[in-house]
Amino acid sequence: MQYKQIADAETHEGKALRLRGWIHRTRHSNKLGFIVLRDSSGIIQCVINSDHPKFREAVSLGIESAISLSGKVKKDERAPGGYELAVEEFETIHRAEVFPITKDQSDEFLLDIRHLTVRSQKVTNALKVRSTVFEAIHEYFRKLGYFEVQSPIITPTAGESGSDQFNVKYFDEEAYLAQTWQLYAEAVVLALEKIYCIAPSFRAEKSRTTRHLTEYWHAEVETAWQDLEGLIALAEGLIVHIIKTVIRERKRELEFFEINVKKLQEIKAPFKRITYDEALMILKKRGVETAWGKDLRTLEEREILDEFGNKPVFVTHFPKQIKAFYMPRDPEKPETARCFDLLAPGVGEIIGASERDLDIDEMKKSLTAAGEKVETYDWYFDTRRYGSVPHAGFGLGVERVVQWLTGLEHIRDTIAFPRTLNRFRP
Ligand code: ATP
Ligand code: MG
Repeated sequence: MQYKQIADAETHEGKALRLRGWIHRTRHSNKLGFIVLRDSSGIIQCVINSDHPKFREAVSLGIESAISLSGKVKKDERAPGGYELAVEEFETIHRAEVFPITKDQSDEFLLDIRHLTVRSQKVTNALKVRSTVFEAIHEYFRKLGYFEVQSPIITPTAGESGSDQFNVKYFDEEAYLAQTWQLYAEAVVLALEKIYCIAPSFRAEKSRTTRHLTEYWHAEVETAWQDLEGLIALAEGLIVHIIKTVIRERKRELEFFEINVKKLQEIKAPFKRITYDEALMILKKRGVETAWGKDLRTLEEREILDEFGNKPVFVTHFPKQIKAFYMPRDPEKPETARCFDLLAPGVGEIIGASERDLDIDEMKKSLTAAGEKVETYDWYFDTRRYGSVPHAGFGLGVERVVQWLTGLEHIRDTIAFPRTLNRFRP
């Protein structure tokens, strides 16, 4: 008999099934042994009778031992997973040592043994949602005719100016790990016009929050001939496509995380749009006074999301002074930039976006004001010297999207081996 997966139990009621996997949980009486088996597709309760020749062996195995077995499937609402298998054949593949994970262990301990914690239902299900989010992003951009382009991880200049960069020694010189593909994308977009990538970005974030990693996966897109309106539509389309795909392909996992799928289904373009100035008015009304020129923090983002029924909200036209040097001023309101953040419930900012400044002198002024060396950007200014055209782009934090869609409290559980302020092991 061929090996099947636990998820196949659904279509094998009353029939025999051959499975292999790991022991998730086990208990027994004198008469019966109950082994909850786990494989990548789910869990199923397997019952072995005390008169079975392998009964002693089976019930003596500890958690995470590897086994293979076969038997008849029956539906059982009370069983974890909804099905039960009556064991006929039984084979031990590997008898595990005493597994270090038991109930009620500290988060820190679980992170110390992350190489084992990844087998938990929580992490496994989050990784499945994550995989589907990656799939949906690729699918969306490819269908729209975008080319996938990779940019260097080792870079000579910072992308988002500031102190949160990782320095690396490049032989005798100083280099940085990429915070974004942005500058390189703006060069290649003049060749391929529509480009995207999903790649790791590195940020030495000193802030200890539940939504910052120091190494995260960044989906970025850059489009020639595009303005803010076009960029907003592109972002809306992407989010709707991700949600649709996850609802279709990750039903079990959304159920596991107790996600209100109906609420997700209600998310349709166009999303609510407000300007930064309007955001400040809403905050004032809600008793959260914020000075003009301050960035919105998680607290303020939460208030805004709450104001609009906890659905995604675009906030456009942030003060130019707090935005990157490549974001252009809005001619109608020059103290603001032609940019937006997209906020999502439970997480806050999931996308940062803007049109790109075409004025070399303006950009030089911003760089100088930020204390940056203008010369290092000279190659980048060539993109404005030879056939400069309007273009725009955004960056989406893949883990933040997974965090939103799974409702996970901490972003670290959306990635197999998280890197945070105080942890880069194992
Ligand atoms: P934040 O204000 O939350 O630090 P940011 O303004 O620094 O975000 P951008 O530079 O615009 O973010 O980056 C684009 C996107 O990348 C963000 O919208 C977010 O989804 C994601 N992102 C940024 N920093 C991190 C991080 N440290 N960990 C995980 N995702 C991040
Ligand atoms: Mg940041």
